Amino acid sequence: MNLKASRFCLNCGLPVFGRADKKYCDDHCRNDFHNSQAVTNSRLTRSAHRNLRRNYEILSGVVEAGISEIAKDELLVYGFASKSVTELELREDGTMIYGIYDIHYFEKGNRMIEVYRKSDLPQYW
Ligand SMILES: [Zn+2]
Repeated sequence: MNLKASRFCLNCGLPVFGRADKKYCDDHCRNDFHNSQAVTNSRLTRSAHRNLRRNYEILSGVVEAGISEIAKDELLVYGFASKSVTELELREDGTMIYGIYDIHYFEKGNRMIEVYRKSDLPQYW
């Protein structure tokens, strides 16, 4: 019997003995590891969804107030997460258009953001 362990349990970090493909010391550690992965994954997706939802609410508020331009810093003050978008589109003139569901925006000069609902765009856009 070979008791030399060169691998360590992915869950508890203790040495693993036995089959070469064994990753956990026992079933308990395997279950534990999978459960914590699932928790981590759902925590990650939940926080991404929360950011998207908050961004969407902020931008909807802007559009619904009839404003088409807002300072980027003001959005940040409201808790806008600028990395959370559902769409990116680089236009030929080099402007990056960001989309969050049906609301799109892009940065103009002076840290101003132009916000619009995609459906409100004129046909030629
Ligand atoms: Zn273990």
